[in-house]
Amino acid sequence: MSRSTRHNRDSKRLLLQYCEGYLALMREADIGEILSRQKGGIASLGLGAGGVSYLFLMDHHLQGGQDSLEQAERWWQRSIEESNSPVAFLEPAASRDLAMPIRSLLFGGAGLCYLDLLLAILRGDRERARRALSCWRSLLSQCAEGQLELNAGLAGNLAGAATALALSREQCLVAFGSELAARLENCVILETGGSVRWPNTHGEGVAHGTAGIMLSFLLWSEASGSLPPWWLKSGIAILLEETLMKPTRLCALSEHRSFLCGGFAGLCVLAVQAFRLYKEEPFLAAARGAAHLALEFPSKLPDLCCGRAGAAAACFSLATIDPDGAWLARGQELALSCLLCERSTWPVAGLYGGEAGLAWLALQVRTGAFSGPPGLDLIRA
Ligand SMILES: [Zn+2]
Repeated sequence: MSRSTRHNRDSKRLLLQYCEGYLALMREADIGEILSRQKGGIASLGLGAGGVSYLFLMDHHLQGGQDSLEQAERWWQRSIEESNSPVAFLEPAASRDLAMPIRSLLFGGAGLCYLDLLLAILRGDRERARRALSCWRSLLSQCAEGQLELNAGLAGNLAGAATALALSREQCLVAFGSELAARLENCVILETGGSVRWPNTHGEGVAHGTAGIMLSFLLWSEASGSLPPWWLKSGIAILLEETLMKPTRLCALSEHRSFLCGGFAGLCVLAVQAFRLYKEEPFLAAARGAAHLALEFPSKLPDLCCGRAGAAAACFSLATIDPDGAWLARGQELALSCLLCERSTWPVAGLYGGEAGLAWLALQVRTGAFSGPPGLDLIRA
């Protein structure tokens, strides 16, 4: 056995052990322990207890086991109980007063409706699924138009509708997602030359910019089997070409290039999904190019949003369309490096800032069901 094969096998074994340990710990843990460590976002998917619920949901979906479903329910219940707290959806890193909008799937209240719906789908409870969807829909209809980006706006919800539809062919989800897609399509600004953009977005990255909205359209098209908007393919091709040619256009600072939220790890995930849908070689080449740029300056942080776990998620995503590219090994290396963090140093618990994001990568290694970032890719198992 070659040295690299042995090394790869050892990395895998460590991640499997870590995954087991994390899930065992969370079976015993309580949200009170999270509260004592973090000041904001305690209920959300991205930062809080919602993220732990998602992890158990996926563990149940990918590996079976009634216990994981009960744990997913327990963590969701605690998120709901905490959701009226003033710090339920606060952004801990930002100004203490900055509450995430309720419509944010990853960081706001919409994520709890989404989790309720996933629980209902995996339990086969259609009545509960209808209730969860109607709650999600009414929450979005109360919000003013205008917030479109993936992190805080409509696009995150379209991605959520796509990932939920991929788990269940529930017809009311088709209508819901089509409505969201139409709302986003109505706001698109088509430039001469084929570029596209949306108002009230920031830059071209996944979290706050153009790429995230494009990604949500791609996911929705794949999940629903509907035709993507006619302008989408050329819009994505232009965005990828221009940013790859001039990386400073996306990230003025090279240390931001590896970020999932605003860097090339995010654009890699976009290019992978474009390749899945359009099956055109330049998207594969762009995905590889974006991954190389993301790996050139590894982040000092461990988390999924701005850290090495995010670059690892992009590598796992790329490995699904480029199995000979050694991307799995690179992703495993990055994930392994995050294990060097002490548990107590994770500032939050959820998927996008906390340890649940790393556990999600380890669960992918354990099950072999590789996909991209949680909530932003279809589960292919
Ligand atoms: Zn980030």
